[in-house]
Order: sequence, then structure tokens, then C-alpha cells
Amino acid sequence: MTLPRIQILALGGTIATAPDASGAMQMGLGADDLVGAVPLLATLADIRAETVSRVGSHSLSFDQLHALANKIMDLDVDGVVVTQGTDTLEETSFLLDLLVARDIPVIVTAAMRNPALTSADGPGNLLAAVRVACDPWVKAHAKALGVAVVMLDEVYAASDVLKIHPTRLNAFASPQTGPLAALVEERVVPLSLPVRAPIEAARKRLGAASGREQPVALLWLGLDEPGYILEAMVDHRDQLGYRGAVVGAMGGGHVPERIASLVGQLAEIIPTVVSPRAGGGPLLRQTYGGPSSEIALRKAGLIWGGRLNPLKARVLLQTCLRAGLDKAAIAEVFEAFG
Ligand code: ASP
Repeated sequence: MTLPRIQILALGGTIATAPDASGAMQMGLGADDLVGAVPLLATLADIRAETVSRVGSHSLSFDQLHALANKIMDLDVDGVVVTQGTDTLEETSFLLDLLVARDIPVIVTAAMRNPALTSADGPGNLLAAVRVACDPWVKAHAKALGVAVVMLDEVYAASDVLKIHPTRLNAFASPQTGPLAALVEERVVPLSLPVRAPIEAARKRLGAASGREQPVALLWLGLDEPGYILEAMVDHRDQLGYRGAVVGAMGGGHVPERIASLVGQLAEIIPTVVSPRAGGGPLLRQTYGGPSSEIALRKAGLIWGGRLNPLKARVLLQTCLRAGLDKAAIAEVFEAFG
């Protein structure tokens, strides 16, 4: 029997750490080391392994991920497994989902516990990721699933998965939709398919999004926010260099009244997306009145982020800007997310 050809691309992260002389964990391991630690992989797949980088995911750049997406586009294999750090996995997997147009499984995995700890989860997660990449249901639904994340025997859609705890083993979840599949014994048990229409519509507009870096500010609003950063962005746009902003707004899409006009001014200068600081879920559109409500903010030209989590909204806005989309086109892309 011919085994599926699975390419492992290792970026770094806790899964790839080894202790230095002082005992501190450094990104020392490459793709071959990760594969060597899991002999069972050879029974599942014809594994090819490449070390792409040895960096923590907190230091990955958009440019590096665009290069990774291009690499995945060129691979002649049956499936791809990316290993990286967990810190930005909810963002990197969504970016890959927006950029990679392949009908083979593309899986991202990582580890919460480093290889020096008892019950490190890296080897198990890598085995599970390869198992998912080889699974017939996943293969048949590769396009319908999009890029998927495998952590602790669950499979999540890249557009929904969030890191919900900094250290726990069960640090990943899709609070809005739940997992796509679960691993049990040696099986992948399908649970659901994601709603892909908004993502596919976005992907059509984005193409390869091959332009230059487009910095997007993330402004997470808290009680009685005075708006000094907003003021600086409005007054010193050119010095600050941000090309767009995401506002992590309260409730269904509200901001403190004292900064409502500043938020409106920012939206006149750069594309500014309102996204739920509650972490996800559709925003309101026409319930509350008053100057800092969703009705007023929408009238003032704020782009409505729909159900996307602020971190994912920032990735999408950055990618739209990189693709050269104007404000009206960006608003249409986000509108589809509810
Ligand atoms: N700081 C690490 C990283 O994101 C944490 C991890 O991998 O869990 O690369």
C-alpha cells in the first residue's frame, strides 16, 4: 500500500525547544528531531520534513507567513502539517486559511508542554495532526474544512479556534462553533463542517495579497478609556504608520461616549473595524441609539467586523490592505461575517 506523502514544515515554538546549559528552553529542534521522536509516524505516512525557522510564534511576521503560504502552494504532496508555537496559532492558522488555495489537508499543530517536561504534548499532537492529514474524511472534505488546527485530540477550524489559556494543556477551543472532529483510539470522528462562504468570498478578493506589510493597530477598549492613543493616531497618522485599526468594542459594538467622535474621526482617516471584545459572536447592527451605539458608529463609517474575534479581524484587515482593497471592498469582505 502506498502511504500518503505528508510534508511537515517546522517553524519553531515550544514543540521544538531543548534546554540550554542554564536549563532555559531554546528553539533548538528542527523538523527531523520532531519526526524522530514519533516512530509511529512512519506507519501512517511517507513523511518529508523541513525546518523552515526556529522562532517562537510570538516573533513570527506576516512576511514569513506569506512566504510559508507560497511554499505550501508549491508542494507536491498529499497533505501538509505545520508545527509552530501556540502563542499566535489562532492568527497564523487563519492567515494561512485566507492565503492557501489547495484541496489537500493543511493542518497546524503545536505543544503547550515542552519536550523536557513529563507528559509533553508535542509528540502526541504531531501524531494526531498527521493522522488527521491522512484521514479519508478529512481528505475528501479538505476544501470544505479549510486550514485546520489539531490540539489535544480535537480538530478546529482556523477561523474559529482561540487560545483560551496561557499554560494549560487544554488551551485551545472554538467557543462559537465547537470542534470539527475528535480523535479517539486510532480514528478521526467527524463532528461538523465549518461555514466557509464568508472565507471563500474573502479569499476571492484577496488573491495572493502579495503587497507590502500594512500595520494594523489593535485597540482593546476598557471601562472609561480616555482615548489618548486614538488622539495620537488621528493627529499623527503619518508618524505612527498604521494603515488600519481594529477596535475591540464593548458588547454588541459600543464604545465609551467620551471617545465616540474620535473613533469616527479615525474611521475617516484609515479603515477601522469594530470587533467584539467579548471574543467573538455577531455584533448588533440596529438595536441601540445614542452617539456611541452601533447605529451611530455604523453611520460614522466604522467597518462592522461581524462575528470575527478581534485578533482574527486584525489578520483579515491586514490581508485586505496588503491586497490593495479600498475601504468599500474591505467593508464588503467583513459584512459577510455577520
Ligand atoms: N512562546 C511559545 C511560542 O508561541 C509558546 C508555545 O509554543 O506554546 O512559540
